[in-house]
Amino acid sequence: MAGMTRPTVATVHLDALQHNLRRVRAVLLQGSADRPGEIAGAPESLGTRPPGHASPAVPQLIAVVKANAYGHGAAPVALALEAAGASMFACADLEEGVTLREAGVTRPILVFGALSVSNLAHLFSHRLTPTVSTPFAARALEDAAAARRVVIGCHLKIDTGMNRLGFRHDNLRRTIPDVLAMSHLRIEAVYTHFAMADQPESPWLEEQRRRFERGVAALGALGLRGVMRHAANSAALLRDSRTWYDAVRPGLLLYGIVPPPLAAADLDLRPALSLTSRIVAVKGLRPGEGTGYGMTWQEDRARRIAIVPAGYADGIDTRLAGRGHVLVRGRRRQVVGSICMDMMMVDVTGEDVSPGDEVVVIGRQGDEEVTAREIAAEIGTIPWEVTCRLGSRIERVY
Ligand SMILES: *Cc1c(COP(=O)(O)O)cnc(C)c1O
Repeated sequence: MAGMTRPTVATVHLDALQHNLRRVRAVLLQGSADRPGEIAGAPESLGTRPPGHASPAVPQLIAVVKANAYGHGAAPVALALEAAGASMFACADLEEGVTLREAGVTRPILVFGALSVSNLAHLFSHRLTPTVSTPFAARALEDAAAARRVVIGCHLKIDTGMNRLGFRHDNLRRTIPDVLAMSHLRIEAVYTHFAMADQPESPWLEEQRRRFERGVAALGALGLRGVMRHAANSAALLRDSRTWYDAVRPGLLLYGIVPPPLAAADLDLRPALSLTSRIVAVKGLRPGEGTGYGMTWQEDRARRIAIVPAGYADGIDTRLAGRGHVLVRGRRRQVVGSICMDMMMVDVTGEDVSPGDEVVVIGRQGDEEVTAREIAAEIGTIPWEVTCRLGSRIERVY
């Protein structure tokens, strides 16, 4: 369908992604210089730096590009981040990893998910790095590697309180010796994931960090030494440099979004995605009339609405009706009526608009801006969901 373009388009700014990566790296550089003797307090058995090394090295950056790079498009995003110096990538499952390799990504690709019931052949054919997060997955991986007579590098995940994937932090002495005895697995890193990193008043970040350090020490005592450690998502990275260890795993920050309720104005991130459409029709409503399914937004005055060809099938949340705003002619305009499958309606009363005029759903127009974070707040969800749900029907332009 060459030459065909729908009016609703997501523009992904690869230069913004690269800028954000450099900004995050600047924070790591600066923070590492200031970092208190983190390594001094770390278990001696682990830690990748030479003993007595005075200034801790700058953590590596694992760019999280799961879920089609949070809706931005995995392949172009990963290639842009690789060019900007990402050390490694992380994705959710094997299929995402294969997509990245086929796009030409050369750096290591860590797969977060449990691979217990997946076709593991792709790990070997596409040089992916699996996570060992359950005894069952460890066994499956060991068998698959043994059958191919190869040793596969993997990352070991410890569950420090999230209670999702990972070996329980308080049970490692029982569970890990079996894994360490598997001769076809080479554990290159140990990691954990924080459940409450974005909630400053919660003690859980600190508790999970302590559990992780004790877990790492326990692994050292069991003979696992000299491996890399990583833990921090975007929120933890912003909040506490003690969570940085040898690598950090930001997603959201790279896309230019600060995880709410945290603020980081001085970080100067740029939103990597804008979503625009065009008005396809304009019409008048008489007093008392409503619009859309349910005929809502009835008022006893005449109004004008613009019809925009983007709906919930494109990932526009139905809760935005009556709450959300889009930008038309540089001004904020309320979304009214109902969000339909393929269309939505916008109040343009008093504005001289015509079909073809640009509508900004996410992004800037003139001096105004609508951010994914703002939309998330309007509908009571998180910004990750807003960008991840952008429909496959929407063309991404880079
Ligand atoms: C998604 C994810 C991240 C990145 O999280 P952000 O909040 O987007 O920075 C890091 N680690 C794991 C295990 C994840 O699943």
